[in-house]
Amino acid sequence: MGGSLAGLLAAHVLAEHADQVTVVERDRFPEEPGPRPGVPQSRHLHVLLEGGQQALDSLLPGFMDELRAAGAPRVGMPSDMVQWQDGRWFRRLPATTHLSTGSRAQLEQLVRRRVLANPAITVVEATNVVGLSGDASRVRGVLLRERGEGTGQEERSLEADLVVDASGRGTKAAQWLSAVGAEAVYEESIDTGLAYASRVYRDTSGSLGTESLGYYVVPNPSQVYGGVVLPLEDGRYLATFSGLRGDEPPTDEEEFVAYAKRLPHPFVHRWLRTAEPQSPVFGFRQTANVRRRYDLPGRRPAGFLAIGDALCTFNPVYGQGMAVAAMSAVALRDALSDPRRTPTTRRVQQALLAASRQAWDISAGADKAMPGAIGNAVTTRAVERPVGWYLRRVQERYAGDPVVGQAFRSVLSLTAPVTALFAPNVARAVLFGPVPATPAEPPMAREETGI
Ligand SMILES: Cc1cc2nc3c(=O)[nH]c(=O)nc-3n(C[C@H](O)[C@H](O)[C@H](O)COP(=O)(O)OP(=O)(O)OC[C@H]3O[C@@H](n4cnc5c(N)ncnc54)[C@H](O)[C@@H]3O)c2cc1C
Repeated sequence: MGGSLAGLLAAHVLAEHADQVTVVERDRFPEEPGPRPGVPQSRHLHVLLEGGQQALDSLLPGFMDELRAAGAPRVGMPSDMVQWQDGRWFRRLPATTHLSTGSRAQLEQLVRRRVLANPAITVVEATNVVGLSGDASRVRGVLLRERGEGTGQEERSLEADLVVDASGRGTKAAQWLSAVGAEAVYEESIDTGLAYASRVYRDTSGSLGTESLGYYVVPNPSQVYGGVVLPLEDGRYLATFSGLRGDEPPTDEEEFVAYAKRLPHPFVHRWLRTAEPQSPVFGFRQTANVRRRYDLPGRRPAGFLAIGDALCTFNPVYGQGMAVAAMSAVALRDALSDPRRTPTTRRVQQALLAASRQAWDISAGADKAMPGAIGNAVTTRAVERPVGWYLRRVQERYAGDPVVGQAFRSVLSLTAPVTALFAPNVARAVLFGPVPATPAEPPMAREETGI
């Protein structure tokens, strides 16, 4: 259910195990890369973290080369970006991780082309899943309704041995499962009311493109505004602002530029005043962290799995959702081909949840501290407090200390576990090292060495 990133990549994996995989998608796929109604977030900045890049290459060999050949920029961190976080400017040290910053639409188009070339995978486009068939012990298929004019309202059913929910953050699976008699799934949520507004620009000042490839202001509890400018595949730039409930970034064109004045330094505002707008301003709300705990014991039917945003969706500021969709497809592949364990629905669902755990801990963990956060998962547990103390020391050091910075970026880019922050050389710097010096003003040039 759903033919976006998670659905396509799950179909790719399942085609190794099934005679026929059918992807049901409410939209018609565009011929050329472009926005479509079922993925409204595609108008906004979509960075692909290194964990996601590695997962995509593992699923679709050579994919990242293909994406790069299609123009997707590769932005080194911290070398290529002017970045402000937790009250400090990052030193422009040599890169230890890279973001792929092309448009979401292009990335999805290339994944779609690769996956749908497989004759074992069929797509049913312009068709809504409207329910499940089966009962509380086993899901046996889906109920479908075609969309568009001239189509009747009649439902048809499509039988399946396995149904995968990849219908995104708006999934209705909870209702569909209750309708077949299954137990309601427990949902954890943390919502800061964060909203996005984005607009495409052309850089007319020449400030970006050589010495700096992008700007990045990361929000925190005492400075809640986010601002990012990063390159797209066609040489243009996407500028995105974020703000919390009650102070959302505006979609009015004049006010959009003025919103940049809220950032802790005027450099993004200065750039926007000279840059040439290339699109309207698009807004987006509904950015809560939501995790559906299908892995917990309960009356769960066999033959039903959830993946991607339909399982776990994150505050987008941390840029994780696509990476997690790809990493979850790798987890699906590994769980299905593990010779030591029978891949029961429950085991596979647990593996899918495990693939999103680190991203959840980062996003939900940070959002708990944001002002106005609401939801049933906002409480900080007592066991988290000593870790919080350590992480605050990490925060004071990652912008200026190469060792701490590298570990921090590897965790955030989902290429290393959180324990990388506690490795002996990192812990030494965090516990005993001084707070390193960082630039007093936005550093507009790279540093040549890491020392
Ligand atoms: C504003 C914003 C910015 C983001 N930025 C980033 C970022 O920088 N980096 C990153 O990695 N992630 C980012 N994300 C997250 C990313 O968009 C998602 O995690 C990712 O798209 C998840 O893919 P998915 O396939 O699970 O769901 P989606 O991409 O949401 O796709 C769901 C699909 O299901 C289809 N569908 C829905 N209901 C039905 C139905 N009933 N029947 C049939 N089809 C249906 C939809 O049409 C759609 O094709 C961002 C998200 C938002 C909201």
